[in-house]
Amino acid sequence: MKENGTPLTDAYKRRLNYLRISITDRCNLRCIYCMPAGGVPKLRHGDILTYEEILRLSRIAADLGIEKIRVTGGEPLVRKGVLDFLRSMAGIPGIRDLALTTNGVLLGENLEKLKAAGLKRLNISLDSLRPERFREITGHDAFHQVWEAVQGARRLGFSPIRINMVVIRGRNDDEILDFAELSLKHPYHIRYIEYMPFGGSEEGHAIHHVPSSEIKKMVAGLGRLQPVSRDPFDGPADRYRFEGAPGEIGFISPISHHFCAVCNRLRLTASGRLRPCLLSDRELDVVGPLRNGASDRELSEIFIKAAMNKPYAHSPARDSSTAFSGQMWSIGG
Ligand code: SAM
Ligand code: SF4
Repeated sequence: MKENGTPLTDAYKRRLNYLRISITDRCNLRCIYCMPAGGVPKLRHGDILTYEEILRLSRIAADLGIEKIRVTGGEPLVRKGVLDFLRSMAGIPGIRDLALTTNGVLLGENLEKLKAAGLKRLNISLDSLRPERFREITGHDAFHQVWEAVQGARRLGFSPIRINMVVIRGRNDDEILDFAELSLKHPYHIRYIEYMPFGGSEEGHAIHHVPSSEIKKMVAGLGRLQPVSRDPFDGPADRYRFEGAPGEIGFISPISHHFCAVCNRLRLTASGRLRPCLLSDRELDVVGPLRNGASDRELSEIFIKAAMNKPYAHSPARDSSTAFSGQMWSIGG
């Protein structure tokens, strides 16, 4: 809570209770819509927030009313010491919901330790159920590893397990129904994500997103879709369940359908900047003041300023000529 006891809100009275933290810009995959295949300039080790710094900022955020934290990257599981870090995160008073977004490659070997660290929710990115296609999209032959991890997570009782599919026309849009069918058989939460044109990826310029309305029409043939009510931590997904299905499906439509009006999040980048909106370049430096001896109160004021700097809505971007700048692997998606 803010010092006057009110939770963190922005200039448009949106309550901000969700912080997404990118803990690294490194990744063990090279997804065509995210990173250039030839590699990317890496942040210097010293330019990445240390775990201690992230934990301090997270405590300050929790005091301001942040209740949900999602740890992302880059690939968070490639960073050394991530399990101990997550355990400390889970212990921060006020954080009621701790989640991880991962590409799943290193997940299988870490599942039990993640559970022991106190993690309940997992988002696993998976854009194809076909091993060869998985390799084409991510640059690595790791489908089976990821799929086994998904199943292992279910056996260990992680819940919910979200599967994020970035839908790419001409690449994997013919698998939209296969993913929806997963929700008919298993308790997975499928999320169809509209591709966002980011300046960072080379191939991204040739990709065209598939609007959620089109995906929804396609899956509607599989059964009656019942809306699932949103919870306060939901964020932007428009959620549905097929009648009687154990899982659900959801649509994340940053391009075709702004969800800015209900946006409840701030982002902390791997390099220590607070980013009020994924799709706007405004960022506030927090690492500078932090390393120059700022007090908790001063850092807390930077969070409040970031909240007040949150734009009402992001500008539209539809193709490479209006691609968003920024780098997903450093901001964290
Ligand atoms: N490496 C982890 C992973 O892939 O799950 C976490 C970081 S990744 C940047 C977070 C999410 O952003 C993933 O679900 C990924 O599919 C999504 N993403 C990355 N680039 C995207 C783009 N251009 N459009 C839409 N989603 C994107
Ligand atoms: Fe890595 Fe995730 Fe980006 Fe794919 S989407 S390149 S897994 S950070």
